[in-house]
Amino acid sequence: MSIGSQPRFRLATLPTPLQEARRLREALGGPERCPRILIKRDDLTGLAFGGNKARKLEFLVADAIHQGSTVLITTGAVQSNHARMTAAAARLAGMRAALVLTSSTEQPEVQGNLLLDRLLDAEVHLLLPESGQTNDEAMEAIAEQLESDGERPYIIPGGGSNAIGAFGYVAGSLELAGQLFEMGVAPRRLYYASGSRGTQAGLVLGAKLYGASYEVYGVAVSPGTGDRSARARTIIEHAADKLGTTVTLDSNDLIHDEGYVGEGYGIPTTACLEAIRLLAQTEAIFLDPVYSGKAMSALIDHVRSGKLASNDTVVFLHTGGNPALFAHGEHLL
Ligand SMILES: *Cc1c(COP(=O)(O)O)cnc(C)c1O
Repeated sequence: MSIGSQPRFRLATLPTPLQEARRLREALGGPERCPRILIKRDDLTGLAFGGNKARKLEFLVADAIHQGSTVLITTGAVQSNHARMTAAAARLAGMRAALVLTSSTEQPEVQGNLLLDRLLDAEVHLLLPESGQTNDEAMEAIAEQLESDGERPYIIPGGGSNAIGAFGYVAGSLELAGQLFEMGVAPRRLYYASGSRGTQAGLVLGAKLYGASYEVYGVAVSPGTGDRSARARTIIEHAADKLGTTVTLDSNDLIHDEGYVGEGYGIPTTACLEAIRLLAQTEAIFLDPVYSGKAMSALIDHVRSGKLASNDTVVFLHTGGNPALFAHGEHLL
């Protein structure tokens, strides 16, 4: 069964634009020194401030509807973009949302994504370090409670990262392939911020299915490659199986460069902050301090250190995350 015949609940405004970043290229040395940079604007997917999760949720919500679900349950950090977009998707599908959000304090600042979760009136369950529960255990407990109240809960894993969620970027890869074909370009690499690996699974599977010219280059936003690579591989295999195909993966297919993480998840690096300012001041595009800023810092470093040639073309997939900007105000200036 091809990707086009998978059940899909429309949530995103597609296709997102693929834009040439001329001013950024100038700022990085011009055509003599810097490759051509195309920005795939998935920050503009349109669902409640946009971002990459809208693509995954189109397939996940379709599955939830198919199962007759009444509540979407998911999890993430207190400033999770995925949780915010899941809460928004639930509203559009006529469901409720319950969010398990990891927080270091009982009273996190109601700003950015958390503010939007509250406006969407999602049921927010803060998971504090002392709870002794994992995110998955907390979601299971909430699901049981909701079931006994007569609801039909649907659990979406953190980041929407499973085989169904991965269809989002299989479809996204097909969309991008069409745009690249129209422009007549064959990029060498696609840079993006990699977290829970569902985006990677979709992009890598999509690149294989549609014969992409580019290498899918994941820039890690948190440490811990090993077990997560196994997870990416499993997601790809399951998604391929659901599409009635098989793919052969080698270890070079699952790039997850940990060189730009810095101190950890959600802690912006100096290079990330520089990337945020540079994109704002050249292209008037806002990156975020948790994901897309770190991914762009890798691209910039690869340009400056000569790892990319000036006659290369690269794609930067802007995965969104804009609301987090407002929760990090004091770090940004
Ligand atoms: C979730 C997210 C990512 C990472 O996607 P994964 O599928 O979890 O790897 C990247 N950027 C932003 C802004 C995100 O919210």
